Amino acid sequence: CGIVGIVGRGEVAPLLVDALKRLEYRGYDSAGVATVHDGRLDRRRAEGKLANLDHKLGQEPLAGQVGIGHTRWATHGAPTESNAHPHFCHGVAVVHNGIIENFAPLRAELTGKGATFYSQTDTEVVAQLLAAYRSEGLAPRAAMQKVLSRLEGAYALAVLFEDQPDMILGARSGPPLAVGHGEGEMFLGSDAIALAPFTDEITYLDDGDWAVITRGTLEIYDQSGTLVERKKQKSQGAA
Ligand code: GLU
Repeated sequence: CGIVGIVGRGEVAPLLVDALKRLEYRGYDSAGVATVHDGRLDRRRAEGKLANLDHKLGQEPLAGQVGIGHTRWATHGAPTESNAHPHFCHGVAVVHNGIIENFAPLRAELTGKGATFYSQTDTEVVAQLLAAYRSEGLAPRAAMQKVLSRLEGAYALAVLFEDQPDMILGARSGPPLAVGHGEGEMFLGSDAIALAPFTDEITYLDDGDWAVITRGTLEIYDQSGTLVERKKQKSQGAA
């Protein structure tokens, strides 16, 4: 299972799949990619091997210079296309590795307020909660901070907002997450190996950190929402 995100300068779907292939060694049962293009979120997902996703992208290409991708190892919900990530909710796209332990009460709370769920995953509560807080008027960073404070469990996350087409948010609590610095582009990945085709300049998030990347900027916040500095390093032997 793995995560990748690219705020890029060219078409990102093929790059997302390349990065996901470098994470195949972790095992997975389905995969997907999402981009924002022409003011809308769009996605392709497939059961099974990345070759299936590749095939789908060949038949129905996915445009866009900003996107997120995922290989899933199902923990909650069968390994079907509708349970594959990215999960969408009202202009929010989310990929997640790990387990949201308190997804059941969160799902009940959201359903009680009228939300409709489209998958059997624990992950979808993250997209639904983000969408709910955005619709209450919270900006992306405030919504992210509030959602993270409500999650219990282990996660690496990447988030794309339809109305913020030039940025991706990432977060980790448990599984690792790395930011890769490019020339006028920025990357997120489960590890430096996934990002090796693009850059060897890596900033690792500390446990509990979350981040906002754009083509030219990286902001990292700790669990309390305080802006923090994390060192940039040269990754070694990742190529
Ligand atoms: N728990 C999530 C799911 O079942 C994510 C699994 C993973 O780490 O790939 O969809």
